[in-house]
Amino acid sequence: MEGIQFENKFKLEIDARLENEGFIRSMVTAFAVQINPTLSEINDIKTAVSEAITNSIVHGYNGKAGKITVVVGIKQKLIDITIIDNGVGIDDIERAKQPFFTTRAKDERSGMGFTLMESFMDSLSVKNNPDGGLIVNMTKAIN
Ligand code: ATP
Ligand code: MG
Repeated sequence: MEGIQFENKFKLEIDARLENEGFIRSMVTAFAVQINPTLSEINDIKTAVSEAITNSIVHGYNGKAGKITVVVGIKQKLIDITIIDNGVGIDDIERAKQPFFTTRAKDERSGMGFTLMESFMDSLSVKNNPDGGLIVNMTKAIN
C-alpha cells in the first residue's frame, strides 16, 4: 500500500528461481509472526505469496534469469506484502485476474493464482511496473 508509514519493514532482492520460492515464503511468514497470526492466517499468507512468486518466475521471466523484490511492512495488525518483478508484465490485468484465465493451459496451469491471492488476503492490487514487469501488492489484517 503506497504512502503507509510502517512500524517495521524488510526488503529482499533475490534471484527468480523456483528453488527460492519456499525461502521467500518462510521469510515472509517468519516476519509476520510478530503480529501473532493464527496458523490459518499463516497458511493464507503462505499460499498468496507462493502464487505471486511462482507467477513472477513462470510468467514474468518464463524461466529466464531475473530478480524478484519482496517488500513486507507491518503496521499494528496489518501485513502489507509487495512482490515486484521486471519480467514481461501483463497486457490486460483485469482479464488475467479472472478465475480460470491462464495463458499456460498447455502446462496444466489452472488460472487460479490471482483468485487465490484475492480470497486469502484482504486486498490485492496488480499493476504493471513502469520499469517493466509486474507489481503485486496484498494486505491482510490479522485478528
Ligand atoms: P495457476 O496460478 O493456477 O497455476 P496461472 O498462473 O496461469 O495458473 P494466475 O496466477 O491467476 O494463473 O495468473 C493468470 C495469468 O496472468 C497468467 O496465466 C499469466 O498470463 C499472467 N501473469 C500472472 N502473473 C504474471 C507475472 N508476474 N508476469 C507476467 N504475467 C503474469
Ligand atoms: Mg499463477
